[in-house]
Amino acid sequence: MCEPNCTSCHSMANNLQKACLFLRNVAVWVKVVQDNLRRCSDGRLYFSPQSGFPSLSLFPSVSPYRSPMTQQNFDVNSVARNWRVDAKQTASPKELVETLFASDVLTLDQLKARLSKSDFRKLQATAARGETLDASIADTVALAMKTWAMEKGATHYTHWFQPLTGSTAEKHDSFLNPAGDGVAIMSFSGKELIQAEPDASSFPSGGLRATFEARGYTAWDPSSPAFIVRHANGATLYIPSVFASWKGEALDLKTPLLRSVEALNKAVSPALELFGASEGTRVGSTLGAEQEYFLITEEYFYRRPDLIMTGRTLFGARPPRGQELEDHYFGAIPDRVLSFMTDAETQLYALGIPVKTRHNEVAPGQFEIAPIFEDSNIAADHQQLMMQVLRTTARKYGLVCLLHEKPFAGVNGSGKHCNWSMGTDHGENLLDPGDTPSENMQFLFFCAAVIKAVDDYQALLRACVASASNDWRLGANEAPPAILSVFLGDELTDIFERILSGEGGSSHSAGLMGLGSQVLPEIPVHAGDRNRTSPFAFTGNKFEFRAVGSSQSISFPVTVLNASIAESVEQLTGELQGKLRSGADLAHAVTEVVRDTYKKYQRIVFNGDGYSEAWHQEAEKERGLLNLRTTLDAVERLTDPKNLELFEKHGILNERELVARQEIMYDIYFKTVNIEGETTQYMAQTQILPAAVTYLGELGRAGESRAVQGISGEVTRLADELYDALDGLRTVNNDLGGEEVHEKAYHMRDRVLPAMHEVRAAADKLEGIMSFKHWPMPTYRQMLFVK
Ligand code: ADP
Ligand code: MG
Repeated sequence: MCEPNCTSCHSMANNLQKACLFLRNVAVWVKVVQDNLRRCSDGRLYFSPQSGFPSLSLFPSVSPYRSPMTQQNFDVNSVARNWRVDAKQTASPKELVETLFASDVLTLDQLKARLSKSDFRKLQATAARGETLDASIADTVALAMKTWAMEKGATHYTHWFQPLTGSTAEKHDSFLNPAGDGVAIMSFSGKELIQAEPDASSFPSGGLRATFEARGYTAWDPSSPAFIVRHANGATLYIPSVFASWKGEALDLKTPLLRSVEALNKAVSPALELFGASEGTRVGSTLGAEQEYFLITEEYFYRRPDLIMTGRTLFGARPPRGQELEDHYFGAIPDRVLSFMTDAETQLYALGIPVKTRHNEVAPGQFEIAPIFEDSNIAADHQQLMMQVLRTTARKYGLVCLLHEKPFAGVNGSGKHCNWSMGTDHGENLLDPGDTPSENMQFLFFCAAVIKAVDDYQALLRACVASASNDWRLGANEAPPAILSVFLGDELTDIFERILSGEGGSSHSAGLMGLGSQVLPEIPVHAGDRNRTSPFAFTGNKFEFRAVGSSQSISFPVTVLNASIAESVEQLTGELQGKLRSGADLAHAVTEVVRDTYKKYQRIVFNGDGYSEAWHQEAEKERGLLNLRTTLDAVERLTDPKNLELFEKHGILNERELVARQEIMYDIYFKTVNIEGETTQYMAQTQILPAAVTYLGELGRAGESRAVQGISGEVTRLADELYDALDGLRTVNNDLGGEEVHEKAYHMRDRVLPAMHEVRAAADKLEGIMSFKHWPMPTYRQMLFVK
């Protein structure tokens, strides 16, 4: 400067400083652009901002990237284009069958090649017939497992189990052991294979373990094969396991499932023998679960605290278009999604999971994957793995897989239809009508037993699918109602009706199933008619339990099906034996049992529209069927004496084990809704209200006009409505409703959910009127449609 305070120098310095700042900003911007340039699948470059933008101090008003709107507009572009396949994950048809399928599964064949004949036979007795493992072979089997796993690249093993949270749990241990003097060996003993003791004191036990006896142990389940799970830096041997307390009480979902399969076998085998099956025929349940899910783009997911915290959107105005055009269902699968599906399927094949079907589902952004059915214990393990693979694989494609039952209001939710049947170890499906009169007789007997079981155990069947998230689905007009009923279809209903009236045969034309008198069946009954509104539908050769939720473990629902049907078969077998003892021939005795059962239980058979209000009236008032609308109504009934007796009699759950499950269901319900309530409050308070206030400020500076006044008035009114609703929510959020978990659960249902609803209603209205650029989170329109 020429002299202190020379104004021209001063302003020059000032300008110089500004220019430097400007240049620095330009440099920053160039870097931002460089960092965020991506190449899309066709090779072109495009700009996709991944993180926030640096603020510019000099020309804030001209920066195009300051407003949320511009940012979101960029998101829409990048979201639609920003995906690429990093590593191809696919197999040729030849590779698929010859090398890929089950390549990461330790099959019995694999073990056979690695064990002596006698050891293998002992293992097989355990794996196939559920006999207790001969401890003398444990070390040899462990060695064979370790060798195989190491060949597959595994350095660790884990007992993989299914705690009462409904998900899976694992704790990895290395095969590596120091052998002194800086030397290490890879070892795995029979003891380590058979049993482990994770420090699992944090898993819910529903009071089965006091903290001083918090230990639980995991034990190998030899009936489900071990497998390898890979990650970018290695692999782990997974050993399917049960999880129990030291007193032998089940702390997991697998133990009762295994017990229920045994109960079914015990109940059904004697009945089968009456129909001529050879002695010692084993019976198990088979299961094929159709998994529905949503995919949304990752960038949107992480901008929604509700999706991150609760798995569902707690806010969101309905977009102008939902699923009404019905153009998504079975539509062409988008390329990105198909690439994801193929990747997931390839991994599932390696795990020996026989996935078969993939398609678009009803709601925009919704899809389905279904495997071929398997033995229910293995199907349950595979189902858990499938959910895990879907979740992890989606991320590779810039997507997030939502397994929640109702991620978006206003479009369909997701279920997991459980196709259930019983089969023998000779591969006979007991719910297949078959094509001889005697097969038909047997089929009708078991079918009648299923009908009876659904009626007798309505409450239990409703309870086993109850959860806070499934409440959004059951009873809404898109998923089966909370009222249990059985859909038989016209042909089968006709046959039962004719047995009831004593006519026999079938009124349907030749070629359809008859009862073995005049009309010989040429084509087995095929339920060509589908009824999506029924919670429990006969679909040709199996029953489909449709009320199961998409995020749920199938283990408990299958346990309940096995248990209730075992009991029902046992009772009907008793009746049948009684008639046979008093001299009736089999055909007559069966006809009578089927007739009496249908007569008593026909109220549960309903082939009409399960969504209609008329059905709800009729079901409750005329037929006396239960309508347990919410989770808590259903969970209350879980420990009804009838259910307790069922589980105890068949050795599936004792009273303590059942009560523990009930406690945990209350607890999970309470916690789920509590988290939703808190998240709703958080988002309304810290995102939505501030956005409305900012917008109002902008309107205040916009001058006078009728439009400005109109909008301001409306936004003010809705913001106040939101503010008041939020106040209400805060009050109930601050209160837990009591000390007991039941009280807390009821508080959540009766106070918190309605308060959340009020907040959402006001916020969704605001979303509809506020300027898009001020809306602080991705909208339904974006999440569901921008792919
Ligand atoms: P949908 O029309 O309901 O999609 P699909 O024919 O695709 O019916 O079959 C649905 C599921 O039913 C599949 O997982 C299939 O393997 C399963 N399924 C078929 N037969 C049986 C059975 N005997 N036991 C259990 N599940 C079965
Ligand atoms: Mg289906």
